[in-house]
Amino acid sequence: MKIIVFGKPNSGKGSRLNEIRKKIKEPIHVLAVGDLLRQEVEEGTELGKLAKQYMSQGLLVPDEVINNMMLNKIRETQGIIVLDGYPRTVQQANAMLEGDEIPDIVMELYVDDAIALNRASDRIVCKKCGRTYTIANEEYQPKQAGICDDCGTQLVRRKDDEPETAKKRLAVYADDTYPVLNLMQERGIKVITIDNSTEHASKDFEKEFLGAINQK
Ligand code: AMP
Repeated sequence: MKIIVFGKPNSGKGSRLNEIRKKIKEPIHVLAVGDLLRQEVEEGTELGKLAKQYMSQGLLVPDEVINNMMLNKIRETQGIIVLDGYPRTVQQANAMLEGDEIPDIVMELYVDDAIALNRASDRIVCKKCGRTYTIANEEYQPKQAGICDDCGTQLVRRKDDEPETAKKRLAVYADDTYPVLNLMQERGIKVITIDNSTEHASKDFEKEFLGAINQK
């Protein structure tokens, strides 16, 4: 089955997924496009070199490149697949649907722009596994300052979390990514929205996520 976790940059998709992974026994395969691209950048591959030019400016990497990478990954993955960061344009959504990769549900995590920008300035990430932490919120701090709890790697600030780039990414989301939600709805795919700025957001997300899996 395929679940799309959708939302603005810094809406908290990664953190919610990290929580849910620990709560369910069945393995879930999270395909996080940003993490996959950052890995390519780190390894200095051709794809990484190309992607870096766009990512550093807060722009989207061209659709053909992303479709190629993601449709292959989806096809070679079994079980519960969670897509984080794909599709991010109407063109990508169409490529997915035309390729017969139909999502079972789209779960949108909503926060307003001010919260997303605030989270960008507060976020540190693991260079290796991509796990995110916040500096200001005790609940999401690493146990040892600057070190990932999961893999012991150094935590860094993402360049695209700098204020200007974070703003640019929100504008790109509004123009290019948000319309994907309408398209999915038009195609009869269930879309649900969870307000990810409330105290009960984690429970709400868990309930909907488990509901989707159990319906399968
Ligand atoms: P993320 O970690 O999901 O915020 O993604 C970081 C960056 O990777 C984005 O700002 C884009 O430059 C690039 N990226 C991630 N997903 C996509 C996608 N589906 N299409 C194009 N570019 C993407």
